[in-house]
Amino acid sequence: MSNMVIIAAPSAAGKTTLIKRYLESNKNAMFAVSHTTREKRKDEVNGKDYHFVSDEEFKMMILSEDFIEWALVHDKHYGTSYSELDKALEKDALLVLDIDVQGAILLKGQNIDAKYVFIMPPSIEELKNRLLERKTETEEQLKKRIWNAKREIEYADKFDLIIVNNDLDEAYNKLKKYIDSIKTGV
Ligand code: 5GP
Repeated sequence: MSNMVIIAAPSAAGKTTLIKRYLESNKNAMFAVSHTTREKRKDEVNGKDYHFVSDEEFKMMILSEDFIEWALVHDKHYGTSYSELDKALEKDALLVLDIDVQGAILLKGQNIDAKYVFIMPPSIEELKNRLLERKTETEEQLKKRIWNAKREIEYADKFDLIIVNNDLDEAYNKLKKYIDSIKTGV
């Protein structure tokens, strides 16, 4: 039985909302808190959403081989540390990773035993609207995220499951059903 679910998506596909909802109602699952060098957003909590670190700290962690994977996403560093995996193992919990598409493909290429889920936005147009609504990006960042999203979608068929996030409830039910089936092994 795999005890890790790797969830990837272009930004603003609704991935974080889906993951948060799953974790709130499933206490035997744990979120792998990544390290990042990007600035903390207003509603985020250090140590809960991310471990926010400096470029120097991140570089030190790379050198110490603390990461199972790390990537440069929209010009900032993001990485999943081995210690997050250890925490889940200790608690015998299912570990949920929220990572970018390149990170997921990298782990899959290394045959890391996990289930790989791709959250697909209904369309690029809808994705653009969601990013605009979110108002967390500058125009330059927004363009970069859209460009990246188009590239990332090309990798969707490498995943075990693709969930189109057209309707949040429907997408959530599919995700929950899939993760529950991993836990029970059926
Ligand atoms: P955001 O800045 O919007 O929180 O995240 C940007 C992207 O970085 C998202 O696609 C998110 O899944 C990804 N990301 C977050 N943590 C990690 C990580 O540890 N590794 C990788 N490869 N990507 C990550």
